[in-house]
Amino acid sequence: MAWFTKTRKPMAPTDKVSRVPEGLYVKCPGCTQVIYNKDLAANLGVCPRCAHHFKMSALERLGMLFDGDYTIHDPNLVSTDPLEFTDTKPYKSRLKASIASTGMKDAVVTATGFLEGIETVIAAMEYTFIGGSMGVVVGEKVTRAIERALERRAPMIIVSSSGGARMMEGALSLMQMAKTAAALARLDRAGLPFISVLTDPTTGGVTASFAMLGDLNIAEPKALIGFAGPRVIEQTIRQKLPEGFQRSEFLLEHGMIDMVVDRRELKATITRALTFMGATPARAAAVRPTPADPGTGVPGETT
Ligand SMILES: [Zn+2]
Repeated sequence: MAWFTKTRKPMAPTDKVSRVPEGLYVKCPGCTQVIYNKDLAANLGVCPRCAHHFKMSALERLGMLFDGDYTIHDPNLVSTDPLEFTDTKPYKSRLKASIASTGMKDAVVTATGFLEGIETVIAAMEYTFIGGSMGVVVGEKVTRAIERALERRAPMIIVSSSGGARMMEGALSLMQMAKTAAALARLDRAGLPFISVLTDPTTGGVTASFAMLGDLNIAEPKALIGFAGPRVIEQTIRQKLPEGFQRSEFLLEHGMIDMVVDRRELKATITRALTFMGATPARAAAVRPTPADPGTGVPGETT
């Protein structure tokens, strides 16, 4: 796993120093302990002392969940900037900067591989790409991933990490909420499982669509999960919000999510859940699947 990733410019104010930074050592924002970077990587980005969960990139996430190699789908789908949107700077140059810094074309990576031998389609969101926001490309890739799960009769897993809908694509980004939810409804009718993994942070239109539609909604510890941010709510209702509001543990207590699972237990928990839901390993977990095919991103291809 590539933990020594390039330093990326945070795109949203909520993104604190929690991503594993460059260098030999990192200071844990949870307990201020100085941790050797390699130890942190070996521990899946979880502080060995206080269990603070550092942010994980989409590719690190896929590497953690899949048994070995996997096939990435539609890597070349890219936003066309349909509204020719400009705020403080043109959306086109934001896209360009994010593509250069992440090496990805948009904020989600979708792939098929094996999870403890069970053929599974996984979509993992990349927070460093414009705050993991969902525009047309994210919505389309997630929908295609769900359709692939349908075709292959495989379970679907989405790991969310997102600031919500992508404002620069206006109503087109909001339509992705309906599109992804409709695809998940088809998956549900086909009797195939969908597990949603909510990581820090999962907010806005992503929470309001696929992230909360899992047959099982699993959150990582202390993740910020909500629709509007706490500041906006406080200003609207003019009340102080309770301690831990919109954090995983609070949401579990209030019935919004099903489980809070430590990242180190995540793969085993998902495997147990999928097995319980009737999934059977297509091959032994130890056997490595075929090498990854990067795909060409041609619309409609089923790599
Ligand atoms: Zn710590």
